[in-house]
Amino acid sequence: MNRSELTQRILDPLLDGAMLTKEDALFLLQEGDGDLMRAAAHEIRNRKVNPKEVSYTGFRVVNYTNICKINCSYCSFKQNDGYTLTLDQIREKAQETKDLGMNQIFFQGGVNGSIPLTYYLEAISMLTEEMGMRVRGLSPVEIFHLAKKNKITIPQLLEELRDAGLTSVPGAGAEILTPHMREVLSPRKLSAEQWSEVMGMCHEKGLFGSANIVFGSVEEPCEIIEHFDVIRNQQDRTGGFLAFTSWTFQQQTEKFTVKNVQNSEYLKIVALSRLFFDNISNIEVSLMVRGKEVGKQALVSGANDISSYVVEENVLESFAPRSAAESEEVITSAGFIPVYRDFDYNRAR
Ligand code: SF4
Repeated sequence: MNRSELTQRILDPLLDGAMLTKEDALFLLQEGDGDLMRAAAHEIRNRKVNPKEVSYTGFRVVNYTNICKINCSYCSFKQNDGYTLTLDQIREKAQETKDLGMNQIFFQGGVNGSIPLTYYLEAISMLTEEMGMRVRGLSPVEIFHLAKKNKITIPQLLEELRDAGLTSVPGAGAEILTPHMREVLSPRKLSAEQWSEVMGMCHEKGLFGSANIVFGSVEEPCEIIEHFDVIRNQQDRTGGFLAFTSWTFQQQTEKFTVKNVQNSEYLKIVALSRLFFDNISNIEVSLMVRGKEVGKQALVSGANDISSYVVEENVLESFAPRSAAESEEVITSAGFIPVYRDFDYNRAR
């Protein structure tokens, strides 16, 4: 059998509803015919979500501090001048966001041990109660260290944050959840088990969010599949990942090796994520790191969402749309109907 026939032999059962095994996923990643994979991923996407529609959203990222003790090898964030935003500065950013017609804030920063818990609670309740914003925020590593510093359990912390108004926690900081890549990225970052455990606790407290991969470094292909498997298993246990997004690393520091990931490779991973995650409905493409043209191709390769347009970005070089109109233009020019949704994937307009 040739490569295309071997690929189709794996894809056919998936189109009949079977689950992709890790072994077959690794074959597809390394040897699979990308065109056939993308076509199958698109077909499965069309059965799971409205085939005519593509969703997007609008939120502003507020990086409340860039001071971080974790020291990830790829991260340049902490190398800038250290800052922690005051509540007034956060309020000002929220007001600017409101003035742009948006009501969602993505509240995230470094692991800064000098910030008291009251700061987080006051900031979140100010954003939600006073400013009328919805807040997705923090990440497993921030939550882990905040609970530890305050000598409370993670579920207790999550309840306090939820009571202050937090509604969602992103699965940020996952990158690639294997022991080898955790060592490369940062030995001080959470292990795969710790990351999964914190995300599971968030889901159990009703704080649903997303999951992602950031690839294109020194990972082995089997590590991509291991990462997918960690997330699929966690989703089977607690079900709170509303979407999965594929990102590629950008060169931010000299001590971290970044590969030039070809667009075809990226699209293959997007397709593979749709084929692998039978238990996650929404597959997002990262226009922010891959740009609009790749985004349009991803929309016929398994993806059904282009995430948010970007108002402020402090860490990465952004290729994303800068407004709702630009997002809609990307979607309509790819042949779909744009649908504005909120953090929770509810139609919001
Ligand atoms: S990626 Fe996050 S945890 Fe790692 S150093 Fe940067 S801010 Fe800290």
